[in-house]
Amino acid sequence: MTLTHMKIQELLDENKSHECDGFGPDNVCVNIAAIAELPSRFGDFHIFAFYNNKDDKEHVAIVRGDVTDSEDVPVRVHSECLTGDVIGSLRCDCRDQLESALTMIGKLEKGILLYMRQEGRGIGLVNKIRAYGLQEHGYDTVQANMALGFRDDERDYGVAAHMLMSLKVRSILLITNNPKKIENLTCHGIVVNGRIPHIMEPNDYNRFYLETKALKSGHLIDFSGKTHLPEQADPPHVRGMSEDLIQLVTQKHI
Ligand SMILES: [Zn+2]
Ligand SMILES: [Zn+2]
Repeated sequence: MTLTHMKIQELLDENKSHECDGFGPDNVCVNIAAIAELPSRFGDFHIFAFYNNKDDKEHVAIVRGDVTDSEDVPVRVHSECLTGDVIGSLRCDCRDQLESALTMIGKLEKGILLYMRQEGRGIGLVNKIRAYGLQEHGYDTVQANMALGFRDDERDYGVAAHMLMSLKVRSILLITNNPKKIENLTCHGIVVNGRIPHIMEPNDYNRFYLETKALKSGHLIDFSGKTHLPEQADPPHVRGMSEDLIQLVTQKHI
């Protein structure tokens, strides 16, 4: 079911007068500022542009179908990566993750990709490039961020949680390999009913980065491309999902 013009107008009207105490350590409050259709090579979506009350970061939600009042909506939270998403850098797997998530969601009746403007896992573009420079001198990604005075991962999902609430989603299935994302969203009041594994094949350039993520940041990734960690072998939560959807989300490689 697609989003009707009436529903779009309703959401925009409600958001005009929205105010709350905000989410996360910075008490960020967001509201839906604009909605438009977004046909793409991955399928037909709506794009929701969010305004926030703290900084000029304009996050967006790429939405498939009408997700309002829906249960178990597949959701991917993607953090902006200019070098990966746009340039196709092989230093990370961001573009593969983005394309794979959009391909998956584009085939579903309902789904959401939140595109968060938090470059370099929250440290910013300049600092990310600095960290790349350090890595050329023998640091790994975690050590490089530490050397720059940042924690391993500066991201907070309060804003993502608020966006999901603004979209009026009742519960989600998170497309992720990162258990911290589930914990963090749950802390912010999002009902996460399950995890859909998101597995990418490493390439020669990002294998070390992915191995570091798995070793040092607790990501659930394995590198053989054949056998999977027990967590990844868990069947995703499929309550209330159609047979087609179950088939799709239980595929290991999409
Ligand atoms: Zn708010
Ligand atoms: Zn990246």
